[in-house]
Amino acid sequence: MKSYKKELWFDIKKRRELINITPEVDDCLIESGIKEGLCLVNAMHITASVFINDDESGLHRDFERWLEKLAPEKPYSQYDHNGYEDNGDAHLKRTIMGREVVVAITNGKLDFGPWEQIFYGEFDGKRRKRVLVKIIGE
Ligand code: ZN
Repeated sequence: MKSYKKELWFDIKKRRELINITPEVDDCLIESGIKEGLCLVNAMHITASVFINDDESGLHRDFERWLEKLAPEKPYSQYDHNGYEDNGDAHLKRTIMGREVVVAITNGKLDFGPWEQIFYGEFDGKRRKRVLVKIIGE
């Protein structure tokens, strides 16, 4: 069995942003040379997510509105976590959007359903953060 690991780094200028990272994960898969197996992609931070959904701008605005209803950023004082930080909302948003995805690899390709794309969800940006890509198989 072959094993491949790479870290992708992101430096998001805004507090929140969704980025389609499918091309970067595809590059990892090509670099790995693995044709059959599994690809894990996970955020390495507790205020960011990796998830799979549609790359459609209306849906992305819906995610933003929905997450702000569930866990509004402000007022910061509403969160017990915000004693020394202001990112209580980002921890909650990350939890609901998920930590990682696993995608099957078939015939050297990410084996997606229709319209599936991999996203990095940043909820407390303005600093460098990373995503782990781990691919195993043969
Ligand atoms: Zn925190």
